Amino acid sequence: MPFDSLGLAPALVQAAARCGFSTPTPIQAAAIPSILQGRDLRGSAQTGSGKTAAFSLPLLQRLVSQQPERPQGPRRVRALVLVPTRELAAQVGGTMYELAQDLSERPKIVTVFGGVSINPQMMNLRGGADIVVATPGRLLDLVEHNALRLDAVAMLVLDEADRLFDLGFAEELGRIIELLPKRRQNLFFSATFPPAIEALADRMLQEPAIVDVQGEPGTAPDIVQRVIEVDAGRRTQLLRHLLKQHENEWGRVLVFVATQHAAQTVAEKLYRNGIYAVPFHGDIAQGTRSDILSQFKQSRWDVVVATDLAARGIDIAQLPVVINYDLPRSPTDYIHRIGRTGRAGESGLAISFVSAATEAHLRLIEKRNGLKLSRERVEGFEPTETAPPVVDASGTGGIKGKRPSKKDKLRAAAAAAAAAAKTSGAD
Ligand code: AMP
Repeated sequence: MPFDSLGLAPALVQAAARCGFSTPTPIQAAAIPSILQGRDLRGSAQTGSGKTAAFSLPLLQRLVSQQPERPQGPRRVRALVLVPTRELAAQVGGTMYELAQDLSERPKIVTVFGGVSINPQMMNLRGGADIVVATPGRLLDLVEHNALRLDAVAMLVLDEADRLFDLGFAEELGRIIELLPKRRQNLFFSATFPPAIEALADRMLQEPAIVDVQGEPGTAPDIVQRVIEVDAGRRTQLLRHLLKQHENEWGRVLVFVATQHAAQTVAEKLYRNGIYAVPFHGDIAQGTRSDILSQFKQSRWDVVVATDLAARGIDIAQLPVVINYDLPRSPTDYIHRIGRTGRAGESGLAISFVSAATEAHLRLIEKRNGLKLSRERVEGFEPTETAPPVVDASGTGGIKGKRPSKKDKLRAAAAAAAAAAKTSGAD
């Protein structure tokens, strides 16, 4: 199905082609016609599915076609896109800007996020904006500074709603929704729908079109998931070994670790061994982070060693390999991490290291995500450690004669995994 059969204006079809989108991805084919009709939408899709263009193209079209209804008055915003991280804000704002380039009436798009000075963002918002792409905290700061008003928002997009919750934005989100007019079109995207997200979607959406592209054969990005068993203390050596072994084949590799300290130490160790690796985490200045990302895209770095917070929402086309040096804390994070590879139909590889201490945690991740991954070993790196004894997770000293439940064991394993993560990078 070509783009021009979805009901999009020629200028938007042309922009999609200019961005290299020749055929709509499944979520685009399913979502665009419904959004153009003005319906609410509940989209269950991972990053990499093409969801940014799936909401951006029809949103741009609706805004442009509704020019006469353009609210008068300064500081008004017509469409609001809420995203969990700065990187995703910059990425979504950039995609929208590109897609709007061929429109005769180009909408004003302003991207705002924390961690940088608020003043230029306030200046940009003078005279209002058609579209604001924002992280929740900074958006509320701007509302408090009277830099924008949300009472004329006709379209709201929640992108990566599950991540917004995971990052603790539930309260901010509630406050923002209170400031919006009741009548509006809502587009709700999430990779996963745990109960809190399900409840929010139910509250927000009215008779939504439901688009679920996960799990349909051939539509999910093609990601090979592998698990390698290794002792925690030998992970850096194994990482080096794999990077060297696949030097010509892998190109750029994104390595996930649990802490900023681990990001620093693992990247430094690789760098000292002749691998172009750089750390990437929330403590690195925003400007430097943007530089690292663009240099990574240009292949000036071969390996980025990142924490979850910093790496969320990053879109690096043709990122072939993601390695979980430390396992992610939550099953949702696992999906988001591996979603960094195999984007929009490209194939990708996700490797997770697992040790005796983190095995139970990985099993929980697999269970929650409906996965069953086989365990591999690499010659010369076979694990020697066994699982630590299950500690009493209740802190009561344990009840004599009462065997730990399955839940107790998992809790203890998660605690052991967190402790192992704390010390990661020390090897
Ligand atoms: P997203 O899921 O929105 O983060 O998009 C993931 C990647 O897919 C981005 O690099 C987009 O540029 C790319 N993309 C989006 N739509 C298409 C399409 N129809 N054809 C090819 N690539 C696409």
